[in-house]
Amino acid sequence: MSTTHAMSSQPVTGAAQLHLLFDQMADAVYLLDPDTSNIVWGNRKAWESLGLSAEEVLNHSVLSLQKDVHGMPQWSEIAAAIRATDCYRFNGRHRHKDGHEVVVEVNTTHFSMDGRPYFLSVARDITNRVEQERDAQSRERQLWFALNEASDGLWDWDVPTGQLFFSPQLKRMLGYGPDEMAPVLSTWSDNVHPEDKPSVIGTLQAHLHGKRERYEAAYRLRNRNGHYIWVHDRGRVCDHAPDGSPARVVGTVRNINDQKELEAQLQQMAAHDVLTGLPNRREGLRFLESQLSLCRRMALPLAVVFIDVDAFKTINDRFGHGTGDTVLQRIADVLRSGIRSSDRVCRWGGEEFVLIAPGTTPEGVMQLADKLRVEVQAAVQVRDVPVSVSMGVAVAEGDRLDAQHLLFDADAALYRAKRNGRNRVEWAA
Ligand code: GH3
Ligand code: MG
Ligand code: MG
Repeated sequence: MSTTHAMSSQPVTGAAQLHLLFDQMADAVYLLDPDTSNIVWGNRKAWESLGLSAEEVLNHSVLSLQKDVHGMPQWSEIAAAIRATDCYRFNGRHRHKDGHEVVVEVNTTHFSMDGRPYFLSVARDITNRVEQERDAQSRERQLWFALNEASDGLWDWDVPTGQLFFSPQLKRMLGYGPDEMAPVLSTWSDNVHPEDKPSVIGTLQAHLHGKRERYEAAYRLRNRNGHYIWVHDRGRVCDHAPDGSPARVVGTVRNINDQKELEAQLQQMAAHDVLTGLPNRREGLRFLESQLSLCRRMALPLAVVFIDVDAFKTINDRFGHGTGDTVLQRIADVLRSGIRSSDRVCRWGGEEFVLIAPGTTPEGVMQLADKLRVEVQAAVQVRDVPVSVSMGVAVAEGDRLDAQHLLFDADAALYRAKRNGRNRVEWAA
């Protein structure tokens, strides 16, 4: 045993000097009799750390010193374990004279001297270390608590194992119980809306590969009922493997469903006319511009129809504004249900509507316009008097026309329809 060897093969160091050296040690050293568990010898630290005198320590056995060793049978087991290994490590609690306990890490070796077996135990006071660990743990718990409160849920992803911890709050947000949601990555990824998934996974990968400072995404996540809710998800790699790859990613999730619904409502309100529910002029212009560039790219024609109610002022004047409003609603219904889903009809203002029909030829749109004119007349009456509309049609082919010219031409054609007697469709000259 190396300790024995050191003790006996250093002739320059006398026994007194050896004791002095041992007394300088920061750790407590005990020489034990394996059979009785009695302390045969100890250094200064051995008694000072327990608040005892040297004599008191020498009268103790390990059993009275260690709070975690309860009697000879247990000591025998420990002694056997010590004998079976080169160095036996044991974390335990020493009993201080004033009653408090000292947390120690004890490393014990076995050797023989003059034919007698001994145990040499070196006990290190690790109270501070344990307190620091406990403190760090409780701080982490507090941090988790605070984060959990500040968000609607937390997740913690162990990248190498693929384990993904979901906080109880996150499970609750999605309608799951505490024992549901298997803690694996696919539990999350399988429930991301298919339309959002490519961009969400792309953003996550970009962060994992260091191309983005953090992972952040707003997307739809399926809840327990199978409905999608909007969430805002933020996360960050907080631990790396020795090779630099991400090892742990932690994130917070917020339920932004109400916010998204409000946004959608505001968007709908900003883009639609309240009276008829049709897209408004701003939305119509936006649609027209986008469809014009699409049709140019695909070498398709695009038709625009300006629609104006005939003698609408008279309707208002004779039957009141309320009746006028109902007429506008009825006309909107007829126009809306008479077009293809790729077409769009908007309320341009007052009693004017604009129909935008991408991919429609001049012949096609003239037929469509006349069909709508007849349908309006057949479906909308005030006191049995049919309400009619006049229409002006223009078609953009190639890159000949931009939106403003197209609308101008259609408006000019409408003016001609009015001049030529109303309740008719005119083609842009
Ligand atoms: P024309 O055949 O030449 O188009 O005659 P008109 O009477 O339809 O033409 P004019 O442009 O003179 O009248 C449009 C009227 O539409 C004037 C306006 O008071 C009315 N109006 C505009 N917006 C609304 C609305 O939201 N509700 C109602 N009830 N009337 C509206
Ligand atoms: Mg008008
Ligand atoms: Mg009019």
